[in-house]
Amino acid sequence: MKYTKLPDYTERKTSINMIIIHCFALSVSQMINTLKSSKLSTHYIIGPRGGIIRCVPDSKQAWHAGKSFWNGAENLNQNSIGIEICSPSLGQNKYHPAQIKSLCCLCKKLIKKYNIPVSNIVGHSDIAPTRKTDPGFAFPWKELSSAKIGLWYNLEDSLKINTGDINKLLSLIGYDTKDLPTTLASAYAFCRHFLPQFVIVDHDISHLIENPLTQDFSFTKTEIFINTLKAVAYTYCKASNKPCKI
Ligand SMILES: [Zn+2]
Repeated sequence: MKYTKLPDYTERKTSINMIIIHCFALSVSQMINTLKSSKLSTHYIIGPRGGIIRCVPDSKQAWHAGKSFWNGAENLNQNSIGIEICSPSLGQNKYHPAQIKSLCCLCKKLIKKYNIPVSNIVGHSDIAPTRKTDPGFAFPWKELSSAKIGLWYNLEDSLKINTGDINKLLSLIGYDTKDLPTTLASAYAFCRHFLPQFVIVDHDISHLIENPLTQDFSFTKTEIFINTLKAVAYTYCKASNKPCKI
């Protein structure tokens, strides 16, 4: 593993219980310069062929998440490890297998070392759905879940949840549903993570960065969306021992 020091971080006062996965559509050296000039940072960067660069020690709080929310907690820089992966398409094209292999190896070490719950391994778009799209709909969450990195679902589990209330279901998973615009953004972030077929491809990366949301939220009325939402909510409740009889 290489080491490149990023200077902007603070002391950590809260224990680590989360991994937040990001991607960036720049070269690694451009990304390091951009982070420095924006006074941002990350714990790890994974390059285009899977090389890992450590930038901030785990023991420090890197500045990668920004305004964020997951499962009732806010300001997630304080309790998370940030991992940035190089992806020229901003997570819209398949990641290089060597990147995923490196990521799996790194995540497994972090999960074991800090006892990170599987329901707390999420993407930047999950925790900041109105602002962010990374790691994108091509990120292989299903593949990673088979290595116990994050959670996937069995659609049959949708039958175990009665309610079809989108707000309640998103909230059970961990998403922010504080108002209608945020709930709709969370529904789209949910699709980026669990239902990529509903996400509209945007080849103009700078446009995508500025416009993370779609105006077309008609997918929220479809049976596949509701059933997947129920199945995922069930899976997250079960993993975190939350009651899900709703
Ligand atoms: Zn990000």
